[in-house]
Amino acid sequence: MGGCQSYPSTTEADNKTLPSSDVSSERLGINNNLEERPYLQEQYVCQKITETDILALTALPPGVDKAEWLASNTVTFFKHVNLFSSALCEFCTPTTCPTAHGPGNMTYVWTDDHGRKLKCSAPLYFDYAMSYIQDLLTDEDVFPTKAGSVFPTGFVFLVQKVFLLLFRTLAHIYWSHYREIIALGLSAHLNTLFTHLTFFCQKHALLEPEDTEPLQDLITALEPPDFPA
Ligand SMILES: [Zn+2]
Repeated sequence: MGGCQSYPSTTEADNKTLPSSDVSSERLGINNNLEERPYLQEQYVCQKITETDILALTALPPGVDKAEWLASNTVTFFKHVNLFSSALCEFCTPTTCPTAHGPGNMTYVWTDDHGRKLKCSAPLYFDYAMSYIQDLLTDEDVFPTKAGSVFPTGFVFLVQKVFLLLFRTLAHIYWSHYREIIALGLSAHLNTLFTHLTFFCQKHALLEPEDTEPLQDLITALEPPDFPA
């Protein structure tokens, strides 16, 4: 079973490994890897595809089993995040992203089955992540689908691990591929998915504050005006 760890890495050397801005980013007036964080610009933050009450959408519906609710949402979020990841695969390569970076140039390091830390390219890291999640979701002992089956002890811990990987996937997209998101017209969809996922995690205590901190500025910017403090 794989794992995941991260550590902050803000050295100059890391900045030099990042892709330089190209023509499209200059045309759009943004650069993904500058501190200005283009995804925080008002013109992009306001882009969403729905005005649905996402807080209500994330709450456990009356009469629904909590584990079932977590399981079905985990499957759905995985499919959506995987779809975004796939849409960007031609832009996220070992050449453009030799290291798996998140906001603040945090580096994501994969831990293999033997506890070895593997510093790998972003596409490889997220390949490991998606394969790991896919294996969990199709494991009948972890995500049972048959009537009468019970969820295992430690189920919530595994769900938390899945959401951490999904969050990091979106974090990498915001940090390293935002100009492609804009060019592809996916900003509104990404903001909506990200907001739904972070609200869901907040509602069900699936991510630690230190996990979401690198994108807390964006989470706050995307909160609706009437969001409870
Ligand atoms: Zn990438």
